Formats: sequence, C-alpha cells, structure tokens
Amino acid sequence: MLCPCGSAQTFALCCQPLIMATKSANSPEQLMRSRYSAYATQQADYIYFTYAHSSQAEQSIDDIAQWAATTKWLKLVIHYASDHKKDLAKHNNAQVEFSAFYQLHGQIWQMREKSNFVLEDTAWRYLDGEVSDSKTLNKPKRNESCFCGSEKKFKNCCAKVF
Ligand SMILES: [Zn+2]
Ligand SMILES: [Zn+2]
Repeated sequence: MLCPCGSAQTFALCCQPLIMATKSANSPEQLMRSRYSAYATQQADYIYFTYAHSSQAEQSIDDIAQWAATTKWLKLVIHYASDHKKDLAKHNNAQVEFSAFYQLHGQIWQMREKSNFVLEDTAWRYLDGEVSDSKTLNKPKRNESCFCGSEKKFKNCCAKVF
C-alpha cells in the first residue's frame, strides 16, 4: 500500500517504521507526515506519544482514537517546512505548515495549520499548532480538477480514497 502521507513511497518504507518505533523521524516534516499516516491508519498511541511532554497532559488516547476513526483521511499537503538544521543552531524548535483534507459526516474538509515542533530527548515532537483555515469544500465531478490543489482530475486523485 502507498503511504497515506502522499510521499509516493510504500507505507512499509515510509511512515510505518516510524509508527512502529523502529526508526525515529529525522525532521519535523517527517514526524508531521508520520502523525498524519498514524491518523489515517488509526494508531492513536503513536499520535499521543509524539506530542511534546508538555502537551500530552491535554490529550487523551481515547479522544485521538475516536477522531481518527470517525474521519476519513484523504490527503496531506505540506506547504512549508522551516529549515530545522538552521533552526537548531538557534533554538530547539521548528515549524511545518500543512493542509489535511478529510471527509467527516459526508462532507469534505480542509484544515490548514501551522505546527510547532520541539526537539525533546533527541526526538522531534509536536508541540502545538495554529489553525489558519478550516472549511468545507464541494465535492468535484469526476473530470473536474481535484480540490487538493494537485492539478489532477478528481477521478485520478482524491476520488481514489473515497
Ligand atoms: Zn509516509
Ligand atoms: Zn486530490
């Protein structure tokens, strides 16, 4: 199976080793991708444990699991990732901006978020995020261009996930 994060690699070579904790993320973007893939494959424990320690108290594995299960994850688009190597020379945090497309209660949603990541115990973790946009999108017709911005026809893009 292709990785849910959209890398065009197989899940087994991309995000799965991170989710199975056999490999750790070498950048905030990779962690971000693996967290998305964990939502898509309903691995709530991984999402919980990749929160920064200070953020874990506000989270519950049950809530994460429920949200992951009621949501159909369609696509991840990374808009921006800060240069974490440069960032690390100055401070131990980094930013990634992304849109997640998902289907919930029969509607397509786009959530755009700027996320903050911190390096804790030599591992990148998700600290928090600021949602800049959250909206519903119209489902395109099969030959119309896809809502996710890929410039492909809907039938050749996110329709495959429905
Ligand atoms: Zn992946
Ligand atoms: Zn698409």
